[in-house]
Amino acid sequence: LEKEMIRLDRLNMVGEMAAGIAHEVRNPLTTVRGFLQMLGKKNDNGKLQEYYALMIEELDRANTIISEFLSTARNKPDKLELEDLNTIIDTLFPLIAADAMNSDCNVVRELTNISPILLNQKEIRQLILNLAHNSLEAMTPGGTLTIKTFMVGEEIILSMADTGKGIETEILDKLGTPFFTTKENGTGLGLAVCYGIVRRHHASIEIDTSPKGTTFYIKFKQFKGVDNEYAV
Ligand code: ADP
Ligand code: MG
Repeated sequence: LEKEMIRLDRLNMVGEMAAGIAHEVRNPLTTVRGFLQMLGKKNDNGKLQEYYALMIEELDRANTIISEFLSTARNKPDKLELEDLNTIIDTLFPLIAADAMNSDCNVVRELTNISPILLNQKEIRQLILNLAHNSLEAMTPGGTLTIKTFMVGEEIILSMADTGKGIETEILDKLGTPFFTTKENGTGLGLAVCYGIVRRHHASIEIDTSPKGTTFYIKFKQFKGVDNEYAV
């Protein structure tokens, strides 16, 4: 629990800083991107065009980092509504399946009857997509991502299990820290965003990992009426 508290504090601090500067940094990026695009079009020197394209790519990368950072920065939950998690998974499924196809992996759903959850749809979609993307990146071709929903007592559980390479125990503590990544081209923000979303939903994350694969469990509390909206 203490470790979790430290992680959340760190997330808050970095998040607040990000919120302050993100908008300001984005405006000049957009301006420069526009001019680069214009110059790139006007220039028919092949080599230069390649450089312009690269510069634009790098600016876009900076922009992505800012977007992902901004979502960790937002602390106040957006509109929460009582919704069916299975429906959200069903509508996302084609997106995840397309992502899986790109890495020659499979995705399967095993959804059971669960109670509706008080959630923000946009955030839960992002949570599922971020977790799915990490799972797919951890697997070699032929791997399988299994998405399940089920209830244990009053808890509603979403599990995302991959057959990937697993997470080394030494780094489990660092997961959720902004910018922590083991990937050459990673941003290290996907899980930071997930932890923020989970916290805003008063849910919890558990990770089960071995060299044969990793399972993320997201545990939601059952909705018990307006008075209990934020009961912890
Ligand atoms: P990124 O994907 O950009 O590296 P994330 O915050 O999404 O950033 O993930 C942080 C790190 O957590 C990854 O670099 C990876 O080492 C580890 N990780 C997350 N999910 C998985 C998974 N399903 N299997 C193996 N490693 C994972
Ligand atoms: Mg990721």
